[in-house]
Amino acid sequence: MILRSIRYGEADRILHLYSPEDGRLGAIAKGARKTKSRFGARLEPFTRAKMILRVGKGDLMAVSAVETIEANAGLRSSAASLDWAARASDAVARLLDGPDPHANAYNLLVNALASVAADQSLATKATQVSFRLKLLVAIGLQPHLSSCAGCGSKEAITAFSGEAGGVICRECGGDGFPLGGEALDWMVSALGSPLAQTGATDERALRQAERAVNDTVEFHANIRLRPAAAR
Ligand SMILES: [Zn+2]
Repeated sequence: MILRSIRYGEADRILHLYSPEDGRLGAIAKGARKTKSRFGARLEPFTRAKMILRVGKGDLMAVSAVETIEANAGLRSSAASLDWAARASDAVARLLDGPDPHANAYNLLVNALASVAADQSLATKATQVSFRLKLLVAIGLQPHLSSCAGCGSKEAITAFSGEAGGVICRECGGDGFPLGGEALDWMVSALGSPLAQTGATDERALRQAERAVNDTVEFHANIRLRPAAAR
């Protein structure tokens, strides 16, 4: 999956790639921006492709052949869907910045980009937060939502703590931020539904759910994600 495709030098492109077997890879496509390039338009961002890469100089592989599997052209038909794809790809790039394979995360990204390409109305802040929640599950950082992460109580859940890795009750309090019932219900429902069936909720609940994701990755992976949507 091409996460980013950056113009480089006179005629080249540098690609940020995410692969099912080798995790994150960087590659250079020489001459990709020449009108008669053998790569044609196959190196657009969010394209899923089979590639032959050669070991190049330094950290960058060199692209020698590309075969498109899925162009996801629908993403380029609206600014909102293009922006959604960029934020989803950026979250994957930041959270999975190494060579370890994460087939679940790869498949999640592939399916999410294909879904939004097919239906641009899915490019919302709600689906972006839902995508990131599912990404946490895929990489083993699933937030604990069914009971207090401190004491196990199911009563009086009032907050979320990135440090505790889930929701916490009034008694455990601690360093969490206030999380309303609406946000908690939405998160549970989003994790149990396909991306295309992400439920609606209000802006306040969505902001809390996004913060739960952000605090989890900041505490456990020391990473900051871009906002889920433009302000
Ligand atoms: Zn508790």
